[in-house]
Amino acid sequence: MSVSLRVLDDGAWVSVNDAREVSVSELWRLDDPSFCGCDLPDFVVENVLSVGADGRTVAAKVYGQCIACGETGVPGWVPVGRLSDGEFVDIDREHAVLPVHTDDSN
Ligand SMILES: [Zn+2]
Repeated sequence: MSVSLRVLDDGAWVSVNDAREVSVSELWRLDDPSFCGCDLPDFVVENVLSVGADGRTVAAKVYGQCIACGETGVPGWVPVGRLSDGEFVDIDREHAVLPVHTDDSN
């Protein structure tokens, strides 16, 4: 299975198999207590830095801001979708709590 994951347009899009699938300006609720002081930060995505796959999960590293407290920065890897038979499957990012995964390997 070969899936092409790329960041396009200077961080405006996550592209999967040459289709633009995830854009900036979405509002995500993150499960990431280390990002700021909020329990579940309401995070507006400003720039996509990188994208990768962890098994079937497509995750992105993004820069953005918590709209509740104003904290800016880069949380861990945020799941943005899934892969099913090499196809991208959207998750309902704006109505879910997204479990941020911290990669401690670097
Ligand atoms: Zn906050």
